[in-house]
Amino acid sequence: MTSDGEARVLRIGTAILAAMLAAGVVQAQQRVVRDPAEPPTRLPKTKAPARMMRGVARQSVDTKSMVELIDELVACGTRLTLSSWTDAKRGAGCGRDKIKARFDKIAEASGGKLQVIVDEFEATAERTSGKPVPLQNVYAILPGADPVMAKTVFVVSGHFDSRPSDVMDPNADAPGADDDASGTAVSVECARVLSKLAASGKSGLRATILFAAVSGEEQGLLGSGHLVEWLKEKGYTIGGMLDDDIVGADPSQGAPHRVRVFSGNGEIEDADSPSRELARAVEEINGRDAIRMIFRVDRYGRGGDHYPFYKAGLPAVRFTEPQEDYNHQHQTPRTENGVEYGDFAKYLNAAFLGNVARYNAEALRQLAMAPAAPTEVRLTGAVTPDAKLSWKADEDPERAAFEILWRETTESRWQVLDFSQSAGQTVLKGVSTDNHFFAVRSVGKNGARSIATASQPEVRPAPGTNKK
Ligand SMILES: [Zn+2]
Repeated sequence: MTSDGEARVLRIGTAILAAMLAAGVVQAQQRVVRDPAEPPTRLPKTKAPARMMRGVARQSVDTKSMVELIDELVACGTRLTLSSWTDAKRGAGCGRDKIKARFDKIAEASGGKLQVIVDEFEATAERTSGKPVPLQNVYAILPGADPVMAKTVFVVSGHFDSRPSDVMDPNADAPGADDDASGTAVSVECARVLSKLAASGKSGLRATILFAAVSGEEQGLLGSGHLVEWLKEKGYTIGGMLDDDIVGADPSQGAPHRVRVFSGNGEIEDADSPSRELARAVEEINGRDAIRMIFRVDRYGRGGDHYPFYKAGLPAVRFTEPQEDYNHQHQTPRTENGVEYGDFAKYLNAAFLGNVARYNAEALRQLAMAPAAPTEVRLTGAVTPDAKLSWKADEDPERAAFEILWRETTESRWQVLDFSQSAGQTVLKGVSTDNHFFAVRSVGKNGARSIATASQPEVRPAPGTNKK
């Protein structure tokens, strides 16, 4: 039993607590961060140039001509990789012809800046019955204007092959409007918008951009796998790859919605993959109201053309519409129990499709204007009070600085921590190696940012292991 006095004190205490709760004081106190200040003193206010403004206006995207290309591709009946490459009216060859004709027209308007290539090759896979089959990819290349960056290439790609329910049936109709005439149309439209910009002579594009329409996706990512090798053979450094696959429909209320951008984790412990960094760059360039980052390599149990790039450790992401309708994918056109199956253009949303083209073009533009991303970013300083970051970068007179980025390990986006004029090593005074992740990116004098390069921790023997 409490005495009267104690009971009175308790009552008063409870009353004060209730008053504080009502005033929001207690809640506010809980929000006060009680972690040690890190870094302990404010960093110098020096900053890199502000990010450049967006340069691709939505009105500059010709949605009508994108839809026209999709209709032309659908009119080929099927574009299955195993169908005819020589029939001008039906099959994969018909698709190739429509795309090449578009690229040729754009090249002509660009004053010869854009180069069109039909890349013929063979591939063997389970879905070619284990036999080599002929394939073709179509590329349009906009060479970089700056010798420092011209051997770095940014790729945008859609696959022009399509499939019916049976992926081995070359005769059934496979309209493939959304999967993936839509992504092909995005790639072609990016070529038109950006080569027009290049032809103006004021684009500032430094790196090379390759606009691809590949085949063999439905037979096992064959065209994309070949493209990785083709680029390496030509001596390109792959700065980033944007795969657009199923980017045409947005049937839910409130459309157009954000487009999903998938990126894989990578395999290095405590450091994000280059693909994840590309996804963050795409979001930062276009805005959170445009891009919905999804931190997984692809939709569950599905695959796409970014995958061969991703598996090669290269920055590659996949754009896909917000909500897929599986009755309109990989289905031979038919009606069953009143349900219509088939991938037709009538289900597409042109406003959404045009938005996706704009986001791709803007990402390609800013990335192709940026200095190269830093390499060999290493974090050292474990078991010391200061984190140390080191990195390498080639000479580039157009680079203004490097930004040192960090984030709480539970946060998904980077923040700028510090700034450095030159590559080498920076000591982050009073910053623990343990509480944040770190990265470095290059900043151009024009305000364009490279993708970030995540720091990899130094490899230290785990406690108790043989140090030999
Ligand atoms: Zn697809």
